[in-house]
Amino acid sequence: MTVEEALALARALGVERGDAQTLLGHLTGQNRAWLVTHGDARVPGADAALRRLAAGEPLAHLTGWQPFHGLLLQVTPATLIPRPDTETLVDWALALLAPLAGRPRVVDLGTGSGAIALAIKAACPHADVVAVDFSADALAVARANGARLGLGVDWRHGSWFDPLAGERFNLVVSNPPYIAGDDPHLPALRHEPLTALTPGGDGLADLRTLIDAAPQHLRPGGWLLMEHGWDQALPVAQALTARGFADASLRRDIAGRARASGGRWPG
Ligand code: GLN
Repeated sequence: MTVEEALALARALGVERGDAQTLLGHLTGQNRAWLVTHGDARVPGADAALRRLAAGEPLAHLTGWQPFHGLLLQVTPATLIPRPDTETLVDWALALLAPLAGRPRVVDLGTGSGAIALAIKAACPHADVVAVDFSADALAVARANGARLGLGVDWRHGSWFDPLAGERFNLVVSNPPYIAGDDPHLPALRHEPLTALTPGGDGLADLRTLIDAAPQHLRPGGWLLMEHGWDQALPVAQALTARGFADASLRRDIAGRARASGGRWPG
């Protein structure tokens, strides 16, 4: 099928034009300007790929790539697809790192594709960045992203703080699984690892694990920052305060939803 026929099919299937153009660009190895001027060029595989997209397969899985905080990351079904919402967490981390002298230490727990760790390392090269994931398959994707982008991150295999015994950081950041086990949106996310999306129950279990364990791994004055669901800001702030964190604070995402919370460990 040609570029023009593929765009007509995309419209008929209800696929967004921008997504269809990204997919056709991937299949042809060309950019959008080329697609506009080559309406009768053949696109091998366009029909099948557009139907998979219309059936709910993520664009990032069909192309293999997802942009995040100015980086282009490889993603596979082994990792969560990085979301623009999570750039809120990265920007907050960078603002806390900016005034720190020397080599601040940062750890990203549950790094998945490596998105948060790599975005921090790219914008703040003088930070020592460690990243942890319990999935060896995810860690392989993260490691490959780091190597391709030339960003030095110390990748560790294990659950949460397990591979960090005795180590302390200026900043602990995480986008843990936080969707409630019975959330009606989960079925639509079936192409991503369930363990990256939900801990089951009310979705707060891993956030609570992080809040309980982080003080053992924070330097005095260090911060714990976590992404969470739009309706989880209150229980997260309460848990931070109950654990002894100071300055419990909230950040909103680009859509204005409560998206990340954090606190400072007084030490
Ligand atoms: N923000 C993702 C979503 O709502 C969930 C990510 C997560 O659970 N950490 O699709």
